[in-house]
Amino acid sequence: MQHSETETESQTGIEAGTGSVTVLGLGPMGRALASAFLDAGLRTTVWNRTPGRDRELVARGARGAASAAEAVTASELTVVCVVNYGAVEGILRDGPVADALKGRTVVNLSSGAPEGARGTADWAAAHGIRFLDGAIMTPTTTIGTPAGVFLYAGPEDLYREHRPVLDALNGTHTHLGEEIGRAAAYDIALLDIFWTASAGFAHALAVARAEGITGRELTPYAQGIAAILPPIFEGWAANLDDGDFSGEDNPLTSAVSSMAHIAETSEAHGIDASLMRAVEAGARRTVELGHGTDGFHRIAEVLGRD
Ligand code: NDP
Repeated sequence: MQHSETETESQTGIEAGTGSVTVLGLGPMGRALASAFLDAGLRTTVWNRTPGRDRELVARGARGAASAAEAVTASELTVVCVVNYGAVEGILRDGPVADALKGRTVVNLSSGAPEGARGTADWAAAHGIRFLDGAIMTPTTTIGTPAGVFLYAGPEDLYREHRPVLDALNGTHTHLGEEIGRAAAYDIALLDIFWTASAGFAHALAVARAEGITGRELTPYAQGIAAILPPIFEGWAANLDDGDFSGEDNPLTSAVSSMAHIAETSEAHGIDASLMRAVEAGARRTVELGHGTDGFHRIAEVLGRD
């Protein structure tokens, strides 16, 4: 089987005061993670490159470590959540930190490219450090609530061993498979949707404002567009997997025309339309390849060609 999924249970399985965890990185997300661990009653040790970010957590009972090496020594499990894999490695590769981590487990919850996860995992293996990679798919406000979404990849036994502590974060936890780059790969694909959709919305706001429509006036209709997407995504994804490219109700030739109207209207207002022009160019290329009667999802197949 490609992947196994395990949904979170309602209880953490940890009795207050019995478990422990270290959190490295106290940006908004690291602080949210540490806060949820504290709320769940875990002995929580924290460290951040720039001192002072632990003040509120320490006031609530966290132990503020003076160094990353001291922090990782305090717990069997260290969760690291910083800006990217470069920062993760910058912290972990420090001699005393790597030495202290030998035989312990690191769960990375920083975002980054799958290659970053693979490189960090190789380094960890070479240093006798047990390593799981992960990604958080929801904002800081969801951490510690049922709405949090956490993805993991790496050795399943390691995941199962540390699941009781991870459950303290509440939310849904899913192990996607043993290939260590898999959580980061999901993260990248999902963030691709988030940022291109957000860029589309920012652009739509600019065009609407140029036409005298306020953000508040547009938003209910924008939410309507967002609401029609889930079944469309489901259909396209299944059709792509099955090699079915039929575009009966909305052929690419019609989509291209709609895209051109958007770009022309933007440009008439002096608003950069390069994002829509790029989408339009991709769609036109796909039509030129003979797929004009296919659906929009044919673009995914064409983009993936060598
Ligand atoms: P950032 O992505 O801005 O990360 C800030 C943290 O990274 C701080 O602890 C900062 O330390 C540390 N850092 C940056 N560069 C280095 C470095 N070279 N060496 C050591 N530490 C470094 O903020 P977030 O906390 O919000 O995000 C952390 C991770 O969580 C990111 O990968 C992000 O994509 C992910 N995430 C965040 C979400 C959110 O809503 N915020 C949602 C989902 C995922 P310092 O204080 O010293 O600068």
